[in-house]
Amino acid sequence: MLFHTHLMIGLVFFLLLKDYFTGGNEILFLALVLLGSIFPDIDDGKSKMKKASGIIGSIISYLFKHRGIFHSIFMGLGLFVLFIVFWNSYYAFAILIGYSSHLFGDIITPMGLKLFYPLSDFKIRGPIRVGGLGEWVILFGMGLVVLKSFF
Ligand SMILES: [Zn+2]
Repeated sequence: MLFHTHLMIGLVFFLLLKDYFTGGNEILFLALVLLGSIFPDIDDGKSKMKKASGIIGSIISYLFKHRGIFHSIFMGLGLFVLFIVFWNSYYAFAILIGYSSHLFGDIITPMGLKLFYPLSDFKIRGPIRVGGLGEWVILFGMGLVVLKSFF
């Protein structure tokens, strides 16, 4: 999925799930969900996330292949645990929700994802081509969900 679609999916995940979590600042929670929703693409040399993260993104995208460990459920869970240890579980769930929304967005594309990499090379994929009509339909549908949440 494209950058803006990942953000939109992250926003919808936030709207659907936010009421299940309490214990901190909701704006910060949203910011972390959105960060999590674009963070995995730090492994893509051409992504906005990589460019925005400067030298760290350059190193990560050089060392790790795109849609490898940074697109694995284990990285999401690893960050979740790190956030619990060094911050708190409320914000840890925000990162996990954002991360999951990103993996969801990539799983539904034909390129798919190795969700359990590096333990398994099993790939899950879907029919939605990146930048294709299906992605725009999803973007539009999610936009409606977001609009509806205000009324
Ligand atoms: Zn991705």
